[in-house]
Amino acid sequence: MKVEIREAKSIITKSKIPTIDFVINPYTGCQHGCIYCYAEFMIRFTGHKGEKWGDFLDIKKYDFNKIKPSKYDGKKILLSSVTDPYLPLEKKYENTKKILRALIGTTAEIQILTKSKLVTRDIDLFKKFENIKVGISLNTLDDVFSRVIEPAASKPSDRLMALKKIAEEGIDTYVFISPFFPEITDFEQIIEKAVNFTTNFSFENLNFRTHNIHRINKIITKYKKDLLSKYKKIQKESSYWDFIEMKIKKYCEQKELNYHIEFHHGGFSKS
Ligand code: SF4
Repeated sequence: MKVEIREAKSIITKSKIPTIDFVINPYTGCQHGCIYCYAEFMIRFTGHKGEKWGDFLDIKKYDFNKIKPSKYDGKKILLSSVTDPYLPLEKKYENTKKILRALIGTTAEIQILTKSKLVTRDIDLFKKFENIKVGISLNTLDDVFSRVIEPAASKPSDRLMALKKIAEEGIDTYVFISPFFPEITDFEQIIEKAVNFTTNFSFENLNFRTHNIHRINKIITKYKKDLLSKYKKIQKESSYWDFIEMKIKKYCEQKELNYHIEFHHGGFSKS
């Protein structure tokens, strides 16, 4: 992976996600290498034309002292949308840590979203915010299969341990069950494992895009061959998602969980 330090014009940018006001992406690119990643479109906007998503990482260079915490009071900020704030190289460069430090004092609702156990490093920092939620993304509890679809992210078991640790420190938590892999993501089992550490769950379906459809079909053919015809069917018609959505609603209501379903069949997706 090519790693470069590049000057960034801004670090907190207006969001196109309807429920979020601002997004923070401390890095350009991502080391996690998820096969379904929706952030690949970023290549066009970041001076990496002709390169492959996952082959580069820009460490954004920015004067973090320029961040004015009060500017974001009452707003919602997501960290991050097109990278992971706790990439392996965050250990060395600490951009996420520096940004959070600069934001201390804001009353903004800060949502952290990660697939990395490194998130526990910043527990003391999270405690300095009055309105912060720390979430992990999960779509399987199978540590082996997770390595296939999210090669460099922390194992699901480690992500759950991180969630436990954060919740035990009294910090608000959530689980983003995303992307929901048909016939693979067992959302009930994930909720059972996580429910002692959070009652907030959100859900996003697996989006098949031109850039990822081939990769997804290749992995399904190799590891879950019996599901291939079903996957091809779902790629053409969306009724499967209506069925899953109903199932999720019923389950979450029975268990009195806070839930939010972000099923869509195109448009922008979060990490
Ligand atoms: S899905 Fe998120 S964590 Fe995975 S490669 Fe893309 S940006 Fe990184």
